[in-house]
Amino acid sequence: MTQHIVVIGAGYSGLAAALRAARRLPDARITLINPRAYFVERVRLHQLAAGQRLRRYPLSDILGTAGIELVVGSVRTIDTERREVTVDSLDTPVPYDTLVYALGSVADTSTPGVAEHAATVAGPAEAQALRDKVATMARQEGTLTVVGGGLTGIETAAEVAETYPGLGVRLVTDTEPGAGLSERGRAHLRRVFDRLGVEVRTDAKVVEVHSDAVELADGNTMTTDLVVWATGFGVPDLAARSGITVDSAGRIVVDDTLRSVSHPDVYAVGDSAAAHHPDGSPLRMACATALPLGRYAGDVIAARAHGRSPRPLRFRYFFQCLSLGRDDGVIQFVDAHDRPRERVLTGRLAARVKEAVVRGATFTARRSGLYPSR
Ligand SMILES: Cc1cc2nc3c(=O)[nH]c(=O)nc-3n(C[C@H](O)[C@H](O)[C@H](O)COP(=O)(O)OP(=O)(O)OC[C@H]3O[C@@H](n4cnc5c(N)ncnc54)[C@H](O)[C@@H]3O)c2cc1C
Repeated sequence: MTQHIVVIGAGYSGLAAALRAARRLPDARITLINPRAYFVERVRLHQLAAGQRLRRYPLSDILGTAGIELVVGSVRTIDTERREVTVDSLDTPVPYDTLVYALGSVADTSTPGVAEHAATVAGPAEAQALRDKVATMARQEGTLTVVGGGLTGIETAAEVAETYPGLGVRLVTDTEPGAGLSERGRAHLRRVFDRLGVEVRTDAKVVEVHSDAVELADGNTMTTDLVVWATGFGVPDLAARSGITVDSAGRIVVDDTLRSVSHPDVYAVGDSAAAHHPDGSPLRMACATALPLGRYAGDVIAARAHGRSPRPLRFRYFFQCLSLGRDDGVIQFVDAHDRPRERVLTGRLAARVKEAVVRGATFTARRSGLYPSR
């Protein structure tokens, strides 16, 4: 009987998994379900928020001759007993033999006031809405407060400040921006923020967002015209709602072949998977994680379909890439577990490398049938 593999989510990991499975299992039926008919370069959404145009990659072109069926719609439910998913655009459920769960992540809006008053760059619709607000605010010379000193908050603050020099841009973080970078990387960040006029407030934990201010844990408030919330990502609750075992963050708990520990016919990849190194330490939510995981899942599914035992996931990181506007950046070399080494590239060279990596990620996602897993 022909195996039906259903992949939900056509981001970096889902696309890679679908294309890889199609390549390895030419006789399988593969369906890819995604809310949009095009691939979004999610790692560029801070650029969209700052007013740049992003290229759209039609999924029909990418899936081309791979023989993958595309369904445009959002998965609403997963029935793990009947092994089928319901999709908002279809009248009948889609049955599966194997499900690949690749829904990515969403903004974490659990802090009071964030859902009501803050903007985010977590998804394309949110980044686009932010773009329009920022453009309006820039004309009024307002103040934008980016909350979160991780890579997304830093990239967003730098990109907006570079595009709109008249806008007051403030970065508020409970630690130090780029706390995961080496001292040289952090020193470069400080120089760039000085150059771009970004005001950095460290050791400031935001506990509530209002329409015109943020409230800090120490009782102080900071007035602002707009807040961008970038403190980290949560994940969609579909897996938890469907009775699939998830961790405390809602990510699917997987074994060392990315298979759900509760449902062996479900695989999880990318931001939605609680994937880990062989020693149990977690992988970070990143495109750098999602792409190889997607390809690997395609290989594992194919290996099992051929009656072979797949090798466990082996994973290592090489670097973290940070854009600081269009002409500056930091490439932070890291060890296998993502811990920073002292070595960094900075400035224009780093910006060029980052751009090449982002393009390479999209190219690789689109051609994932062809590349070996790491
Ligand atoms: C502004 C920004 C900058 C970033 N920069 C970097 C970077 O420089 N380097 C890096 O490594 N990472 C970066 N990241 C993180 C990176 O984008 C994510 O880790 C990566 O996209 C995760 O890939 P994924 O395949 O798990 O999910 P995604 O790429 O988010 O794809 C998930 C897909 O699932 C779809 N989906 C969601 N719900 C449903 C549903 N119910 N039914 C069907 N489909 C659904 C979504 O629409 C989407 O198409 C950045 C993220 C942001 C927001």
